[in-house]
Amino acid sequence: MNDKDCIFCKIVRGEIPSFKVYEDDDTLAFLDIHPVASGHTLVVPKVHATNIFDISSESWTAVSETTRKVAVAIERALEADGVNLMMNNREHAGQVVEHPHMHLIPRFKGDGLKLWPHGAYKEGEAENVQEKIRSVLI
Ligand code: 5GP
Ligand code: ZN
Repeated sequence: MNDKDCIFCKIVRGEIPSFKVYEDDDTLAFLDIHPVASGHTLVVPKVHATNIFDISSESWTAVSETTRKVAVAIERALEADGVNLMMNNREHAGQVVEHPHMHLIPRFKGDGLKLWPHGAYKEGEAENVQEKIRSVLI
């Protein structure tokens, strides 16, 4: 099912042009229009959803496998030194387009791109957060 007004569904349907790099029955990979680095690619499911919180297990599995294939291709084709995978889920995590998408960003030695700063746990905080997350999963 596609969403009428969703920009990535329009790209999937071919109503908006894109630089496609890979397509199969369940997923599409195309170049991000405002790349962090040349070759920055987005992998999307063809079935509309919003983000990680409502994507089906089947779509997610397909996105994951396409991400793996395209990441390998990007590194090889662009002679990159690595690839970052990143997914923004909900507005406060930086999500702008409300259709699930994985960012694949080629990285090069010395490119200077810093994705996020690291912090440190206070006494007892790691145990506390570990327990909170585990209690929802068990
Ligand atoms: P988000 O911030 O939602 O994780 O990322 C959305 C991404 O989609 C951005 O990096 C943005 O450059 C890209 N984007 C937005 N509109 C278009 C479009 O029409 N075509 C393409 N190829 N990329 C788009
Ligand atoms: Zn959509």
